[in-house]
Amino acid sequence: MSEIIVSKFGGSSMRDATAMHRSAQVASKQNSSFIIVSATYGTTNQLVELIEEATLGHWGACEKLLFNMRENHFEICNHITDDQTVHEKVRTHFNELETLARGVSLLRECSPKAMDRILSSGEKISSLLFSEAYKKDFPNRKVVLFDIRQMLKTTDKHNKAKPLIEETAIRAKELVSFNNNEVYISQGFTGSTLEGATTTLGRGGSDYSAALVAEAINADILEIWTDVAGIASTDPRICEGAKAISEISYNEASEMAQYGAKILHPTTLVPAMRKEIPVFVGSSYEAEAKGTWIKKEVENKPLIRAITKRDNQVLLTVSTPKMLDAIGFMGKIFDVFTRHEISIDCVTTSEISVAVSIDKDVMGDRSFMHDLEEIGQVSLEKDYSMISLIGNKILSTAGLGKTLFNALENINVRMVCLGASANNFNILVSHNDCDIAINQLHTAFIGAKDENSITRSW
Ligand code: ADP
Ligand code: ASP
Ligand code: MG
Repeated sequence: MSEIIVSKFGGSSMRDATAMHRSAQVASKQNSSFIIVSATYGTTNQLVELIEEATLGHWGACEKLLFNMRENHFEICNHITDDQTVHEKVRTHFNELETLARGVSLLRECSPKAMDRILSSGEKISSLLFSEAYKKDFPNRKVVLFDIRQMLKTTDKHNKAKPLIEETAIRAKELVSFNNNEVYISQGFTGSTLEGATTTLGRGGSDYSAALVAEAINADILEIWTDVAGIASTDPRICEGAKAISEISYNEASEMAQYGAKILHPTTLVPAMRKEIPVFVGSSYEAEAKGTWIKKEVENKPLIRAITKRDNQVLLTVSTPKMLDAIGFMGKIFDVFTRHEISIDCVTTSEISVAVSIDKDVMGDRSFMHDLEEIGQVSLEKDYSMISLIGNKILSTAGLGKTLFNALENINVRMVCLGASANNFNILVSHNDCDIAINQLHTAFIGAKDENSITRSW
């Protein structure tokens, strides 16, 4: 049997009918056996908005959003097929979505479980439309529009469900076979509990879905098709000099994803690493361009491979004069974060204070602040961004700090985190300075714009 290839196409590759047909061509040329798609570009954001408006009881705003989403999807549908059974299926999906939104707006509350029903509808509809585009282009292929909820089993932690690897593998064996050269087309981002309730894997989770499928069906290659021709040394949207990376190790690419490179969901590589499945990242708009291979070992290991950023960082400082001899002060602080399930990123300490950076999104209702105030005086500074320099031998290379601070001579660095890992060096700067700082760091460590620089494909 030929190689099993799992290909994932993101929202930008599902933008419109043309993008869908282009993606179908790529998938066929690559001989992909299992295709995972995201919702069409911007749809999940609109679904999030729909939930917010419905929860506030703003039905007028909900109707507008539903209207826009219907228009966009029917426009794609009209371009792809005039088969009325397909149009009827799209109508049914939208009717169901409207009923769900109506329910939320009447109750003025949306449980995480209901949220997952709504959020997953984007992928349901895009996979239906994409499967029709694929069938039209390749009428001789046996296309299976596969409901991923039958296979990808998860915990019931709605909105951020965790995969149940063994359950998923068992179902993959039962449900998926390539005996007749089938092409499976299915939904990213979505799973279901053992009881069958729909779950989602967290925003951007389609990459992770594809990797979980690749693991479950023992794929030989995982491909992530997006709107840039591979992973670049930094986000090409913020730095014109961003350079294409032809090969990168699992570890470096994981660090990049963890520290904010949007091109990959942070957990994507975990299943691929477990089974040592090589991962290719490329652009569905320029499939001929080189792209990036992510593998276990790579030859070239530069000091700084890439620069990433995470916005919306908050700096929290807990101070107490008691710390001078207070054993257990830090333990108490971290205990508060553990109890409230708050993950912290960078930590620095002085004799009387501890400062930590936290992603604003994980701060929840901020009830942990009250518990911290019992330990010491708490101050909170907002609107920071964390810049991470990712590479190799960072702890044992002389001169790195000098280059860094020279490059940032005009920028205030609020916090520096170096020392825990040879693969990254993190700094916290004001959000307003962040993109300038990235450009300056990129020029200093990686280089200015040249023929290896990369741009977004559309
Ligand atoms: P998709 O819809 O295909 O999932 P995403 O928008 O999630 O696409 O991810 C692709 C985007 O990631 C690119 O358009 C690019 O702006 C951004 N990005 C951030 N960091 C990087 C990087 N280091 N290399 C390439 N792209 C990056
Ligand atoms: N559609 C989902 C999102 O926008 C999942 C994904 O695209 O990866 O978050
Ligand atoms: Mg994505």
